[in-house]
Amino acid sequence: MIRIIDKINSVKKLDIGCFPTPVHRLKNTERELGHEKIFIKRDDLTGIGPGGNKIRSLEYILMEAKEGGADTILVSGPMNSNLCTITACVCKKMNFDCISIVNGNKPIEFKGNLLLDKLLELDSLYIGNVTEQERGEYVEDLYRKLQEEGRKPYIIKHGASSGIGAMGYVNAIIELQEQCSKLNIKIDEIFAPGANGGVAAGLIYGNTVLDFPFKINVISVEYENDLLEQNINRIIKEIEEITAVGFNYKLKDACNIVDNYKGKGWGAKTSESEKMVFDFPRKEGVFVENIYTSKVLVGMFDLIRNKRISGNACFIHTGGFSSLFGQF
Ligand SMILES: *Cc1c(COP(=O)(O)O)cnc(C)c1O
Repeated sequence: MIRIIDKINSVKKLDIGCFPTPVHRLKNTERELGHEKIFIKRDDLTGIGPGGNKIRSLEYILMEAKEGGADTILVSGPMNSNLCTITACVCKKMNFDCISIVNGNKPIEFKGNLLLDKLLELDSLYIGNVTEQERGEYVEDLYRKLQEEGRKPYIIKHGASSGIGAMGYVNAIIELQEQCSKLNIKIDEIFAPGANGGVAAGLIYGNTVLDFPFKINVISVEYENDLLEQNINRIIKEIEEITAVGFNYKLKDACNIVDNYKGKGWGAKTSESEKMVFDFPRKEGVFVENIYTSKVLVGMFDLIRNKRISGNACFIHTGGFSSLFGQF
């Protein structure tokens, strides 16, 4: 097992975030749910820009870009994207140029992440209401154009949910296990979001490396189980290529994926998730947003209430704080 961890540690990354992120109890939530111990891991506090899970992914992705001699990072996403803003922040720190390619028309009002983008003087290209595939083609064209101009562009693919990006969450779960022993706490069940599946794939792979100290619950915020599972499996394969250590486990045995809290999918709030955006900070002084983190909490609360999990729970707060200001 030590050897596998050595291999994981030998994958190069930037060392720019603030880790380990804090772990603490949610006592008012424990009281409300009548559940003994509920923890939160504050991956919203990863230390650069508005923080969040993307810092862990970008430590790996931008190291790959740096090693390849890139000078310009191309990142794309929907309007008010966490990834675009956080990438722009990390690029400032690492002295990369950054261009964001964004769905929709140039906004009149700059709220949420868009305000931060403006403060950063991020070069944002608004390409109208296109599909994800069309956006991908636009990014590829821009990549070629920049190359012809003599620049060295690098594209961040799959919303940073690639094997290399997911390495951040392989590390995160190893970090969590170390924290459990240092803080002398026991965590049984982890709750994390599943959109493109990068966070989930990293956690699941890392948990396997550690020989399953945790049970992982993935709350889908975007796709139905089948598609999310396909994405997670694809990313795990990519991780296995990077570490050169493969496991032949079935995803169904390695985690619990649930898709009944996602409502109409990515970005579509449900009445429960919207209520959570108000209720949770009023209890715990911690903000959650409408797209990812509130849905995970709705799922976690429901599974705890229905006694579907046993033992101590831990909510992985993946961030998104700045997007909240563009959601109302
Ligand atoms: C991007 C993002 C995620 C990503 O989830 P994946 O399943 O890895 O795609 C989760 N939470 C927040 C707040 C994010 O910004």
